[in-house]
Amino acid sequence: MRLSRFFMPILKENPKEAEIVSHRLMLRAGMIRQQSQGIYSWLPLGKKVLDKVNNIIRQEQNRAGAIELSMPTLQSAELWQESGRYDAYGKEMLRIKDRQDRPMLYGPTNEEMVTDIFRSSVKSYKDLPLNLYHIQLKFRDEIRPRFGTMRSREFMMKDAYSFDLTREGAEHSYNKMFAAYLRTFDRLGLRAIPMRADTGPIGGNLSHEFIILADTGESEVFCHKDFVDFDIPAESTDFDSVEGLKAIFDKWTSLYAATSEMHDEAAFNAVPEGDRLSARGIEVGHIFYFGTKYSEPMGAKVQGPDGKEHFVHMGSYGIGPTRLVPAIIEASHDDNGIIWPASVAPFDIVVINMKAGDQACDDTCELIYAALTKAGKDVLYDDTDDRAGTKFATADLIGVPVQIIAGPRAVANGEVEVKDRKTGARETMTIEAAINRFVA
Ligand code: ATP
Ligand code: MG
Repeated sequence: MRLSRFFMPILKENPKEAEIVSHRLMLRAGMIRQQSQGIYSWLPLGKKVLDKVNNIIRQEQNRAGAIELSMPTLQSAELWQESGRYDAYGKEMLRIKDRQDRPMLYGPTNEEMVTDIFRSSVKSYKDLPLNLYHIQLKFRDEIRPRFGTMRSREFMMKDAYSFDLTREGAEHSYNKMFAAYLRTFDRLGLRAIPMRADTGPIGGNLSHEFIILADTGESEVFCHKDFVDFDIPAESTDFDSVEGLKAIFDKWTSLYAATSEMHDEAAFNAVPEGDRLSARGIEVGHIFYFGTKYSEPMGAKVQGPDGKEHFVHMGSYGIGPTRLVPAIIEASHDDNGIIWPASVAPFDIVVINMKAGDQACDDTCELIYAALTKAGKDVLYDDTDDRAGTKFATADLIGVPVQIIAGPRAVANGEVEVKDRKTGARETMTIEAAINRFVA
């Protein structure tokens, strides 16, 4: 992508409304724009990152055996009357009437809808277990939307829903998502700690929140510090192994970890003082087992091996991609801007032409841009006629992991500079060596 043809409205000034660093940097880098309170557009740079986050989530959901579908954002109130949640949900639910005056709502979550899909077509235990997920916008009319897309009113959620014949089966489904979440957050460059959680209005009795430690987090959390070094389940994890996944779950729940709502002072004090971590955190995922809470009132049942009908045991599993993007920035930035982990960076490499219009610089940059693009790299080429200082500041701000800098003096020697955004290390090398480093 040539920067001269891209749409990346960089802000020079620090936006006043942004209270935390991720919000400030997302606005400055031209990733998002607020359209009305708590409702955002994702501009092209932000959209690229969000798509990468979603793809990692998707890969790990699929690996764990979940199946993707897409449910609508608008739902009929009737379904929610069946589960009893239409009145219970309160003011966070955006209620709408259609032209026939039928009550509708913008979905804050999809338990009812997915249960309806399930009951309409699954009749036998032989079709279980089943886990259906989508990545879709949600709306919750939050009292205090803030911190940009960290807590917005319209936001994206990956929500998965599992169906099993028995509680034991449902626990295995829960453990699959538990392990998938550990892998997902790790691939996003984050250390997320599963913490025992309150089940809130969704209900049930087995629940964990996945929390990233960050000073700007809204939750107060308490845990054993060893979680920071625990091993992440390998790519080769067998998601069909009941014992294998139980072992991962047991290991990751063996030490104390709880948010303030579930905090048990006495249990925490039993942790040796030097191992106690009391911090702030950002909730990036939340998983629940809630048994037959929806299947009973909504009549979602299957025939079991005993020939009798059984209400299915369900769980739901959420991740917030539009919260994850700022959470990644909170965890990875410096005074100059964002430092993306390679897995979610909007571009792999930025090529900076320090003197656009200079024939040698132009030729060199075009050559590098073409070679790296051909090799499958996603390259941003800063071909604008901005001053070199402005270009360096922009490249640092948007956090692309590698910068290849072509200035007249180096180019005259057949060389360019390669800068690592994270360490700041710069290396001068031949043009060919620079290309080969990233093509190999
Ligand atoms: P919170 O406690 O932060 O209000 P929640 O417990 O209501 O969140 P869940 O229903 O568990 O949220 O939703 C699953 C995930 O969706 C959360 O872990 C979070 O990552 C994301 N999420 C929830 N609400 C928002 C929001 N207002 N803005 C952005 N992401 C959100
Ligand atoms: Mg939650």
